[in-house]
Amino acid sequence: MSTICHNLTFLLEKISLAATLAGRDPKKIKLVAVSKTVAAPAILEAIACGQVLFGENYLQEASEKIPILPSQTQWHFIGRLQSNKCRQVVELFDMVETVDRPKLANRLNFHAGEMGHKLKVLVQVNIGREPQKAGVLPEKAASLISEIANKEHLECRGLMALPPFFDNPEASRPYFKLLKELADTCARQGLFHDNEQVELSMGMSGDYLAAIEEGATIVRIGTAIFGTRL
Ligand SMILES: *Cc1c(COP(=O)(O)O)cnc(C)c1O
Repeated sequence: MSTICHNLTFLLEKISLAATLAGRDPKKIKLVAVSKTVAAPAILEAIACGQVLFGENYLQEASEKIPILPSQTQWHFIGRLQSNKCRQVVELFDMVETVDRPKLANRLNFHAGEMGHKLKVLVQVNIGREPQKAGVLPEKAASLISEIANKEHLECRGLMALPPFFDNPEASRPYFKLLKELADTCARQGLFHDNEQVELSMGMSGDYLAAIEEGATIVRIGTAIFGTRL
């Protein structure tokens, strides 16, 4: 078994165990294999191991890899998005996790309409209120989700966050709790496309177990699968 396949198998077992211990259904948790800076052959190893879902941050890089990889592979865009790049993102990706302003929602909706399909999106929340980070402030999230709900070609499936970075995963936990509370509040107001099944994308290599305990339905993991990025 390749190292990548070994890492993936180990991760899926840990995810499943953490979900079960938290009283959650392991099948409700999706692993996005974050493949930024990872070359196509290593991604193919992960695909050969059964991984279907990948995440990319940089459009230029993704546009070179996605077309040469198997077409049944699914892709989430998890990077900073410029509004003049929305068309390419709609062409390449199955979900955009980083919608944080109305202009992006407008552009994505327009291009999804042109291509005649519905695009799944998450609203990225700046849950730690960090000035340098992308994401809508928590108190502005509900109004952005409502705007997206009015767009014919977008489906807002949930929330995504990238909390402040700490070495200790326990330090992320309060931010995961905040994101979960925000999602619950918005779901009670009926703002999402499916308010019974709201996606919460949170948790990375260092803190995914805490994220699952706090309700993550999508964990985005790179380093623990592909190794340290150069
Ligand atoms: C790089 C990245 C990840 C994965 O981080 P790892 O620590 O390598 O698991 C997850 N989410 C986003 C938004 C990223 O940019």
